[in-house]
Formats: sequence, C-alpha cells, structure tokens
Amino acid sequence: MQTNDKKKKPPLPVLLGLGLGLFALLALALWPTSPPPGPPPPPPSPEEVFLDLPKIDVHTHLSLSQVPEILGIMDENGIDVMLNASGGGPNRGLPSWARVAAETGGRIRPYCNFPFSAVEQPEFPELAVAWLNDCKSMGAVGLKVFKSLGLGIPLSDGSLLRADDPRLDLVFETAGNLGLPVLIHTGDPQAFFEPPTRDNERYAELEAHPSWSFYGDDPAGNAWPTWEEIFAQFEERVARNPGTTFVGAHFGNAPEEPQRVARMLERYPNLVVEIGARVPEIGRHDAGEMRALFVRFADRILFGTDLAVTDGGLTLGSSGPEEDRRDQVPAFFASHFRYLETARRGFAHPTPIQGNWTIDGLSLPREVLQKVYADNARQVFRLELPSN
Ligand SMILES: [Zn+2]
Repeated sequence: MQTNDKKKKPPLPVLLGLGLGLFALLALALWPTSPPPGPPPPPPSPEEVFLDLPKIDVHTHLSLSQVPEILGIMDENGIDVMLNASGGGPNRGLPSWARVAAETGGRIRPYCNFPFSAVEQPEFPELAVAWLNDCKSMGAVGLKVFKSLGLGIPLSDGSLLRADDPRLDLVFETAGNLGLPVLIHTGDPQAFFEPPTRDNERYAELEAHPSWSFYGDDPAGNAWPTWEEIFAQFEERVARNPGTTFVGAHFGNAPEEPQRVARMLERYPNLVVEIGARVPEIGRHDAGEMRALFVRFADRILFGTDLAVTDGGLTLGSSGPEEDRRDQVPAFFASHFRYLETARRGFAHPTPIQGNWTIDGLSLPREVLQKVYADNARQVFRLELPSN
C-alpha cells in the first residue's frame, strides 16, 4: 500500500525541486533588472549650431605624455583653456606642467595637489606653507583636493582624516592668502552611499568599480561616514576659511539637491561651483528650476567636464568596464553644450554609464553662457584667455 501510495504521489525531492524551480522563475521575474547604462549622446549634427564662445574647462585630469592629443581635443571641441586637476606637486609633476603651460601659451594649466597624509608629522605646518608657496611660484592656478580627504586618508588612530579637521585650517588659509582657489571634491554621488545592489540606479558604475561604494564598512572594518556627514565636513570647511575661494566640484558636491547648493551659495560668498561629471545628474531636475538657479547664480557656476586624458586612457566623465574612445569625445562635449544652450527635451546625457535616463536643456541666455563658459573662471583663477 505504502509503496503504491508513494508511486501515485510524486516523491518529496521532486516536489521540492518543482517548488524551488517555480520560486526561481518567480524571483527572476520579480528581481529588478540591473539598470543598463543610458544611450550614448549623439555627436553634434550639422544643423545643430552651438554658440562660438570662449570656453575654460576648469576640471580635467591630464597626463604629460598626452599633451598633443589634449590640444587636438581642445581645438576640435572649441575649448580654449583646460585646467588640469592632476598637476602634482612642486617635487613631482608641477614643474613639467609649468613648462607645458608656457609652451602652450597658457592653454593647459595645472592645479597643485597637496600631501594631506602628512598631517600627523610634527613639521606639517611648515611643510604645508612651503609646499603651497612653491605651488604658487611654479604657476599653479589653484589647489585641487580629491575625495580622499574625508574618505581615504587613514590616521594613526584608525579614523579617516576629515575635510574640516582643524589641523588643515592653515593649509586652506595659506591657499587663500596666496590667491590659490581650492577645487574641492568631497563625498560622491548619493547613490554610492546606498547598497550596491541591482536596484541602485548607479549599479552599472558600482559593478565596474566596486571600490566606489561607500556603503557599509571601509576596508579597515569601520563604518563609512554617511553622505550627510561628509557633506557637513565640506560645508564646515568652506565656513572655516572665509578668505579662501572654494570651487565646489561636481556641482558643489550635491548635484542631487540643487536647492541645498543654492543655500550654500547664498550663505558663503567664498563658494562657487563647477558642473564637472554632473550634467547627467543636474540635467534630470526640472529645467525651469535649474535655469532659474543658473540665472540667479550666473556669476558663481563654472564650466567643467572631469574629462580625463591620461596614460590610463580616456574617460568621459566616468568609466564603465570598457575604455571610452577618442571618437566619442565630440558627442561628450556636444551634450554639455546642448544642455546649457538649447531647450531640447529628453536627450542623452554626456556619460551613459552614469544612468539610464535623459536630460532637458536649459537654454541659458547668452550673457549667462559667457559667464559660465569662461568669464567666471577668468575671475576666479585670474586668467587671461590665450590670444592664439
Ligand atoms: Zn575629477
């Protein structure tokens, strides 16, 4: 009997297998699919004419070996001046970049980078002042601070060096006294502080660069600071050094929240912002509101792209698993110009890997464009445009 019964009913393992199979199918159907990167931006078409205005890209990363390539890219895309955020320091890099600046008639100019990891050395104050003086005398246009300040410089007590650490007051005060504006990247996209799962809207990027995730614990096993904590450090730094001009990289480090950036610009006259690698993000907001913000702060927003032309390859704002190609560069710049200059709706943003959505153009007035593209940078960095 029992044997017969067993023959009639499917055995337990089969039932379990069926159940599991069904569950897997259901899970597959319900599992959010990984957001694919957005479509590539189209190159400028002959009928699409952008204004012929001088342009200074205040946020690029360049390698010395690539100078001829960089000049070609500048000519091809109407960029008069590029400021190189990877200029190095007085002991390495900067002297060579000073030569490039001279040889290119000032078309490529370096920022200076700073050794923040030396903060615990007893001679740090003297070292800092000497370093910055050398940066200035070697022709650096400003100081570039990477996101490692706040997220990547471990101290002897195991904590991370904060952007608002009082021991750094002297560094930023000296930069201000020397007339070196500080291009400062603090934090990262808010999505990088959220779980790096398939439903994270920046999953494609986090999948390609797992180390860009600041969710959970850092490599030392301590909890990463939250996005809010890091942003508070940035604000406190700007507040602590009112005599220093800060250029908030990546749209003031808060492209997701333009109203927060507007409040910062209101509160701190020593702050300006640049748009490098964040047109995909700011382009998602209501175009009317963004246009009003650009017009209201027309003197405080600078053109930047975060273009990297280095020995490691080409990066158009951010990178995926594959290297960006030289023939994609015109489309990258054109998408920026389309965003700032036209009223077009629903077009591809400059950096497909940064998310599968489209952006809306601002159609800024010509006098605002002149400021954003070049005049604000000329003021902030006290630059003359090369006369070719
Ligand atoms: Zn950058």
